[in-house]
Amino acid sequence: MKFLSAKKIKDTECLENIVADYQNGKLKKDDIVTFKAFIFNLRIKANFSFVLVRNQKRIFQCFFSPSDCPFDLTTLLEESSVKITGKIVPDSPCKINPGFEIAITNIEVLSMPPEQPYAIYKSIEQLNWQDDMVFNDRQLTLRQPYYRSIIKIASGVLRGFRDFMISEGFTEFIPPKIVQAGAEGGADMFEIDYFEKKAYLTQSPQMYKQAMVGIFSKVFCVSPVFRAEKHSTSRHINEFEGLDLEMGFIDSMDDLMALQTRMMAFIFDFLNKEYAFELGELKVTLPKIEKIPQVKFSEIKEIIAKEYNRPYRDEFDLEPEEEKLIGKYFIEKYDSPFVFITHYPSEKRPFYTMDCPKNPNTTLSFDLLLNGAEITTGGQRIHDYNAQITKMKAREMNPEHFADYLAMHKFGLPPHGGLGIGLERFVMKILNLQNIKYATCFPRDRDRLTP
Ligand code: ATP
Repeated sequence: MKFLSAKKIKDTECLENIVADYQNGKLKKDDIVTFKAFIFNLRIKANFSFVLVRNQKRIFQCFFSPSDCPFDLTTLLEESSVKITGKIVPDSPCKINPGFEIAITNIEVLSMPPEQPYAIYKSIEQLNWQDDMVFNDRQLTLRQPYYRSIIKIASGVLRGFRDFMISEGFTEFIPPKIVQAGAEGGADMFEIDYFEKKAYLTQSPQMYKQAMVGIFSKVFCVSPVFRAEKHSTSRHINEFEGLDLEMGFIDSMDDLMALQTRMMAFIFDFLNKEYAFELGELKVTLPKIEKIPQVKFSEIKEIIAKEYNRPYRDEFDLEPEEEKLIGKYFIEKYDSPFVFITHYPSEKRPFYTMDCPKNPNTTLSFDLLLNGAEITTGGQRIHDYNAQITKMKAREMNPEHFADYLAMHKFGLPPHGGLGIGLERFVMKILNLQNIKYATCFPRDRDRLTP
C-alpha cells in the first residue's frame, strides 16, 4: 500500500528556494543546484551563451559554456520546460538577477514546443503588439513579464481584500451565479436554458448579500458578474469579478465609506509590502492612503462646471469626462487619487437604495472614484419591509414579482448597507492601464468569446 505524507517537503528544485537560500547564506560560491523552469530567451554565441529562464516569479540569467556542459543549445527552443543543473557564481552584474548567476553544467529537456513560438522576451514597447494579438494569443502573451505582473497584482488585490474583510470580522459566502431574475430588474442579462425554464447569469449578488446580513451581519463575496451590455469602452467588459460586501447594524453610510477607506489603505500597504517585485516590474508606485475626501454629487457637478468651464448637462449622472475632471481636481487640490461622491439622485439608483430623509430626490449612496473613474458603488439599503414596498410601488414595480427578494425584509433585517468593487476596473486604475481587458486573463467583450 502506498501512502502520501501530509508533511511539507521543501522543493529543492525550485529557483525561488535557491534564491532564498543564497540570500540567507545557506548557498554559496560553487555550490551545485538544480531547478526546473521555462527557457525564456537564448542568446547563443560560439564560446559563451546566456540562457534566460522564467519561473513562477522572475526571469533569471544563467550562463552556458560548451566546455562546462555538453548540451547542444541550438537544439533547444524558447518556451521549453527544462531541468537545469549548475554552479552558483556570486556577484552577478546582471540587473535582473538577485546577486548571483548559475553556470550551467547540465540541461535536461522535460518538454519542448513543436515549433518556436514568437518572441516574448522584449519589453512591451519593443514588442508593440496590437490588442488583438495580445488577446488572441493570451496563452503566450501572458507569459511576458509585464502582462503577467498585472495578473499577479489582481491576485494580490484579491488576497488583500479577503484578508482585510476577515480582519474586520466579515464572513465570506458564495452566491449563486445562475438566477431566475435580476437584482436590478432583469435588463442587460445573459439568458440561458435551465431545464424547462429560462434562467440568467447573475448581474449582481445584491439580493443574496442582503439576505446573508440576516445570518452573519457582516458578509462578503468574490463572485463573477455578467453584464449583457453592448458597450465598447476601455472601462467595461461583459464578465468581471465583483468584490462585494454587506454590513448590518450601520449607523449611516459613513460607516461603509470609513470601512472602504481602511480597505483601500490596507490593500495599498499590502501590495507595497507583498508585491513590490511586480509593482517594480510595472513601474508603479502606490501612495500611502490615510484619508479620502467626500463630496456631494450636486456640489461636485457645480464645482467641475465652474472650474473647467463646461456645461452642467446630465443632472442624474456623471459623464465619463466629468469623472476624469473630478479625478484631476482632487489630485491637484487635495493630492488625493480617491474621492467619494455621495447623495446620487434617486432617479439613477436601484429600488433598494435608501432615499435621503432630508432630500428624497437624492439617496444615501456613493461612488468611489480612483484616478478619475468609478471603481465602487455603495450605499445604505432599505431595511424596512413597508418602506421597500412603498418605494417599489412608487416605481411602478409589482412587489409580488419580488417575493423572494422581500422575504428577507419580512423575516427582519437590521439597518444595513454595502458596496461593490469591480476587480478589473480597480486594477486598471491602480496600474494606469489603457484598457480594462489587460487586467483579466481571458477577457470577454462583445466580440470576444475565446480563448
Ligand atoms: P459604470 O457606470 O462604470 O458602467 P455601474 O454603475 O453599472 O458602472 P455597478 O453596477 O454599480 O456599476 O457596479 C459596481 C462596480 O463594478 C463599478 O464601480 C465598477 O468597478 C464595476 N463594473 C461595473 N460594470 C462593469 C463592467 N461592465 N466591466 C467592468 N467593471 C464593471
